[in-house]
Amino acid sequence: MDPLITYKFQELFFVKVHIFYLVGFFLLICNDKNNIFMKLLLISNSTNPGEPYLEYPRKEIQRFLREKKVHALFIPYAAVTFSFDEYESKVVERFSEIGHYITSIHHFPDPVKAVQEAEVIVVGGGNTWQLVRMIHDNRLMEAIRLKVSEGTPYIGWSAGSNVACPTLRTTNDMPIVDPNGFECLNLVPFQINPHYLDINPEGHGGETREQRILEFLEINPDVFVVGLREGTMLKYEDGLLHLIGTKSARIFRKGIAPMELNASDDLNFLMR
Ligand code: ASP
Repeated sequence: MDPLITYKFQELFFVKVHIFYLVGFFLLICNDKNNIFMKLLLISNSTNPGEPYLEYPRKEIQRFLREKKVHALFIPYAAVTFSFDEYESKVVERFSEIGHYITSIHHFPDPVKAVQEAEVIVVGGGNTWQLVRMIHDNRLMEAIRLKVSEGTPYIGWSAGSNVACPTLRTTNDMPIVDPNGFECLNLVPFQINPHYLDINPEGHGGETREQRILEFLEINPDVFVVGLREGTMLKYEDGLLHLIGTKSARIFRKGIAPMELNASDDLNFLMR
């Protein structure tokens, strides 16, 4: 055969192989629940007893956001007994100490647009029911989900971590308002129980946290629940999930004995 024709055939073959791999890679990214672009910092609690607000996670937030100054969008909707302005000023103070700006969404005339244009999304704790209600009322559930799945970093603490899960069903809060739907951001496929506590205070006869989670699992048997103890957080970056902090996390699932996993353990099975 004419060497030129052979060469052209070979060239075509290599182009096809490349296209095949590129399409394969693209499909893998699209189908993988493990979105490698997503960046999440899901913190159990804002403040440890006796410490200033957001003191213990401050360094981790700094590491997560890196050095370049960012302008983050704050979602204060979980606040019930204090104003959004008050909430914003506490968070602004902490963020400015680590070299970043943050503005609350209540200053923007179009909240959906604010989310679409956000550099970083930060969701504070408070009452989870009220938070979910306001996210639904402002039509932000889908907007945040989309923005974060495209790679916009997400930081949440307490209720803000709970709403990163498929639903709000593992909150500790009182249902003070109808949330207009239990579904949340579904950024991770498991549930978080923030502020996870091992024992009840002495003399308290109500259900322990573990008993409440076991009730959840009885009705929702296919879901993992992470009991995220105070002072700890989960970080998802570069397609990998890590526990940060000196305490272990207690992992529950129906039919499996609860597991205690530490920062050095592999938690990636939770993302599948
Ligand atoms: N109320 C908590 C918070 O956001 C959430 C919870 O305990 O489930 O701080």
